[in-house]
Amino acid sequence: MAKHESDHDGDEASVQLARLVLSLRSQGVSNPRVLAAIESTPRELFTPDLFKDRAFEDSALPIACGQTISQPYIVGLMSQALEVEPRSRVLEIGTGSGYQTTILSKLSRLVYTVERYRTLLGEAEARFKQLGLTNVITRFGDGGLGWPEQAPFDRILVTAAAPDEPKALLAQLKPKGVLVAPIGKGPVQSLKRYTGDGAGGFRIEVMTDVRFVPLLDGVAKEL
Ligand code: SAH
Repeated sequence: MAKHESDHDGDEASVQLARLVLSLRSQGVSNPRVLAAIESTPRELFTPDLFKDRAFEDSALPIACGQTISQPYIVGLMSQALEVEPRSRVLEIGTGSGYQTTILSKLSRLVYTVERYRTLLGEAEARFKQLGLTNVITRFGDGGLGWPEQAPFDRILVTAAAPDEPKALLAQLKPKGVLVAPIGKGPVQSLKRYTGDGAGGFRIEVMTDVRFVPLLDGVAKEL
């Protein structure tokens, strides 16, 4: 009986995930590896109990510490824009729930992720373990400073809004690497992609308007 019920729940979740993926496709997320990663990731594992029934909606939802789990469309768009390759070493700033981290871990060789709230990081680490992810390395710290000991990275994804060009992070990118970040000081920011030209410069593309929580200095004093 219990088995039957859980099978049924699993079916329901996979139907909802398939529907979510169709919606992302219709909005322009077309990279098959990105879509497969989203389709195989149980987003309800990353949302608080109060919002489990909304886990497969294409919307951002509140998580602990006043933060948010990003909208699936934005996760798809950013993951696609990052042009992650199977051999990539990726740095993510702002672990949050760990949802975006999980998507990146399915696209790349190794993901380094930094979070400034201990509580969020602990919960995300438990999820990575539950999912059996073996290529995610976490750090409690100020992600604005990057992860100098592990630099340079092939790809860097910032999932909190940087007030302006994230120079410290760009300095930790390989010469032909790609960094994607929301940039701006207000409630609405520009999602920008920086692509290294191999000679120390960057091509900068403005992708779309987004709403992210701010990238804050230092680690959180509260849990
Ligand atoms: N990628 C996350 C989105 C979380 S929201 C997800 O899929 O759930 C952004 C996260 O960035 C928050 O958890 C916030 O605490 C974190 N953050 C903000 N400033 C930071 C900083 N300087 N260093 C590390 N994390 C930061």
